[in-house]
Formats: sequence, structure tokens, C-alpha cells
Amino acid sequence: MADCIFCKIAKKEIASQILFEDSRVVAFPDINPVSPVHFLVIPKRHVEGILELNSEELTSIQAAIKIISSLCRDGFRVVNNFGKDGGQEVPHVHFHVLAGRKHSWPPG
Ligand code: 5GP
Ligand code: ZN
Repeated sequence: MADCIFCKIAKKEIASQILFEDSRVVAFPDINPVSPVHFLVIPKRHVEGILELNSEELTSIQAAIKIISSLCRDGFRVVNNFGKDGGQEVPHVHFHVLAGRKHSWPPG
């Protein structure tokens, strides 16, 4: 999608530190981290929400989370904000992976 910031990152039209990549997904640090470790995992294909992901993309997303979070020995949190009530700001589905501090519950 032409105007999508995450499509531009996936296509390397915007430079970003790539933490994981395969044919279907890419992972990179969040530009505005809320935890000492905060990265985003996205499908390369532009889809807005989690319900549109196919099984291959979900498998790759899990692989990305597994590889990067293996460094987070004390645990981590995975967050997907979907839609208006979910607090989604970027309309290209993404999973936040947060680590490096204790995370409280419930979220705001
Ligand atoms: P959402 O509220 O949609 O779940 O979260 C969007 C996330 O994308 C935010 O944490 C925000 O900091 C991050 N973000 C927005 N624009 C950019 C960008 O251009 N590059 C990177 N790396 N992260 C971004
Ligand atoms: Zn996109």
C-alpha cells in the first residue's frame, strides 16, 4: 500500500534495523519504545488486522517472536492492538513484543 509506513519499512524504502526477516514477515525496533526491549513484527503483505493473516504468516510471526525473544530470559509481552477500541494507530497489522521490565496488568 503506497502510503503505509510499515509497507515502506518492509520494502526497505525506509531504513530500519531489521531484527528478523523471512519471505513473509519482518521485525524491527519500535521508533518510540515503551520498554527497554520493544520491537514490532509485521507481515510484508499489507493487511490491516490480525483476522486477515494467513496460516503461513502466523507461523512466520511466531518464528520471529521466538527467535528474538529468546534473549529475554525473564519473559516478555506480546500485544496486538486492533481497531479503534484496541488502540491501533498504524493500520498495518503488527505485534508489539515488550521486555526488559516488569509489565503490569490490566493495560490502560
Ligand atoms: P499501535 O498503536 O498501532 O499498536 O502502535 C503503532 C506503533 O508503531 C507505535 O508503538 C509507534 O511508536 C510505532 N511506529 C509508528 N511509526 C513508526 C515508524 O515509522 N517506525 C517505527 N519503527 N515504528 C513506528
Ligand atoms: Zn502496509
